Amino acid sequence: MRCVIAGGGPAGAMLALLLARAGVEVTLLEKHADFLRDFRGDTIHPSTLRVLDEIGLAEAFHRIPHRKAYGLTLVTDTGASRLADLRGLRGGYDYIAFVPQWDFLNLLTAEAAKYPSFRLLMNAEANGLIRDGGTVRGLRYHDKDGEHELRADLTVAADGRGSTLRVAAGLAPVEMGAPMDVVWFRMPREDGDPGETFLRVSTGRLLVAINRETYWQLGYVIPKGGAERLRAAGIEELRHHVGRLLPFLAERVTLLGSFDDVSVLTVALNRLRRWYRPGFLCIGDAAHAMSPVFGVGINLAVQDAVATANLVLKHGPSAVAAVQRRRMFPTVVTQFAQRVAQKRLIAPALEGSLRLTRVPELARIPVINRLTRTFIGNGVRPEHVASR
Ligand SMILES: Cc1cc2nc3c(=O)[nH]c(=O)nc-3n(C[C@H](O)[C@H](O)[C@H](O)COP(=O)(O)OP(=O)(O)OC[C@H]3O[C@@H](n4cnc5c(N)ncnc54)[C@H](O)[C@@H]3O)c2cc1C
Repeated sequence: MRCVIAGGGPAGAMLALLLARAGVEVTLLEKHADFLRDFRGDTIHPSTLRVLDEIGLAEAFHRIPHRKAYGLTLVTDTGASRLADLRGLRGGYDYIAFVPQWDFLNLLTAEAAKYPSFRLLMNAEANGLIRDGGTVRGLRYHDKDGEHELRADLTVAADGRGSTLRVAAGLAPVEMGAPMDVVWFRMPREDGDPGETFLRVSTGRLLVAINRETYWQLGYVIPKGGAERLRAAGIEELRHHVGRLLPFLAERVTLLGSFDDVSVLTVALNRLRRWYRPGFLCIGDAAHAMSPVFGVGINLAVQDAVATANLVLKHGPSAVAAVQRRRMFPTVVTQFAQRVAQKRLIAPALEGSLRLTRVPELARIPVINRLTRTFIGNGVRPEHVASR
């Protein structure tokens, strides 16, 4: 079997590795020159850690500088509350590992490169499908040398939420909407700063602060489409709000020189009704764009990849419909939870109508904590690698 995968994100890189180690001839195309982009999200949850363990990569993964988070913390004007505590989660891992995603992708692709049936094409952008009647027989892509064709028995679109191949296949997602976009930027960390990664909420404002040891990766959440308004208000306004939300950064915010220092990432929440055509399959965000809520999109993408490898290695390329059948349920449940959080927490927080006087320590209520830690840590229907 020959397989071609467009998109070297978590879904594409993991699928390529799983197929390559099973001896499948697989080509992975990534349109960028490297994996070094800031907006990718950093969270590797226990479900993904277990997959890494199953393929013998857990040790190498843990050698990458990382931070472990054992729970989720919300900080409001009245103090901090633990929303979930992962300790005690069954399955061997009870923490979220924060790792820059480029390190994670480099690990997966370096491992895949050990197999002779794997080929990675960087700077290679998929731009169309090769069809034979109703069946997809490969893809077209361009690179610095021009246009090329790659024929395959299975073509996988793992090219993210703006998927080109999904469009080429005539598949369009149903939009569920998101009330926010995210402005990403960095600030240096100093001794005495908090050690935790946390979500900071105040009237009308929301900010995610990710501890990356030497610096803070900050995600300032703005109302959907609000980037222009933010720019018009000027960088001083952004500095002011960041300094007010995180007083320990009040002096450092001047390092935010201009809007060149920030990138705006639009948030989408959608999914395809049908993920496949004969010879063709969408996985990860190409099949279902995930909101950043709960930080589970990478893990869902990895789980899609594991399910795809398991089913395709067992039944061949015709297993594309079975992949959708297996992965639709976890997608629907996870997106439902994201929608509830967007509606009940994020939208009211941005509108300033969220009451923040008493945030309960949900992690201290055993029944609730068991549910949240399982949902966040293991996800819905966790997958296991069949071909060890
Ligand atoms: C603001 C924001 C923050 C987030 N934070 C987190 C987080 O902390 N944790 C988490 O788990 N999830 C997070 N998510 C969700 C997460 O980013 C996605 O769910 C996840 O990245 C999906 O993985 P993927 O492999 O399907 O797609 P992607 O990660 O989008 O990867 C797609 C890859 O395909 C490449 N590509 C695109 N088009 C082509 C083409 N035509 N040819 C070749 N290559 C192509 C892209 O360059 C990219 O490398 C966040 C999302 C947003 C919007």
